[in-house]
Amino acid sequence: MEFNKEKYKIYTWKNWMVLHWILNPGLAINELILGQRIPKISLEDKTSNKPRVERTFVPCPHCEKLHDGRTWATQNGTAFKNWFGLYCSNCGKIIPCIMNGFSFIILALTFPIWGWFRKILKENWLKKQPERYENINIELTPNPFDKKSWIKTGLSWGAFMFLTMSIGFPYFDGQEITLKTLLLGIIIWTIGGLGFGYTMKIFMNKTMNKKGKNTAANTVQN
Ligand SMILES: [Zn+2]
Repeated sequence: MEFNKEKYKIYTWKNWMVLHWILNPGLAINELILGQRIPKISLEDKTSNKPRVERTFVPCPHCEKLHDGRTWATQNGTAFKNWFGLYCSNCGKIIPCIMNGFSFIILALTFPIWGWFRKILKENWLKKQPERYENINIELTPNPFDKKSWIKTGLSWGAFMFLTMSIGFPYFDGQEITLKTLLLGIIIWTIGGLGFGYTMKIFMNKTMNKKGKNTAANTVQN
């Protein structure tokens, strides 16, 4: 699939953020447990001055439709459970995704267990997809990192990480869970969550140039 490079910035695994998704072992949790996935290719419209979240597109290599990135949003109930990839509601095929390195290792090691069921699991998953995308209205999809929303989004993520890393893993691993480890976990994941939320807020709301921002600010002032 060819893209207009004048219009779009193309994100592939060579981009540091996508690379981070591959290399950070913690993200294997998001991928394997939550089914959160990152497409192999995404596009950012350089000609629009909207916040980045509104000018990010995911191309389907099968039917070439450019999906609005917000199609797979928490608010639409489609950000997670995408274990087999991102479903294209236009052609019914799967948009290929990158895989976290540790997910890959875990999946490879456990293949003898789940490999037998892969086909059935995938078929069942695929059957459930169309209805998930039936009532999505992009214009009504709120930005999870808008205004103060980043605090809630960041803290929800932090809470999930706390439950997984400070309670879930130690429990199954037979490690001791003490008041000290719990408090330490709360501190780490509160800071981590807020840091994540704030970074995403800056990233997702970024516009192309300052001129546009100033214009918007001036309009508000006037
Ligand atoms: Zn498609």
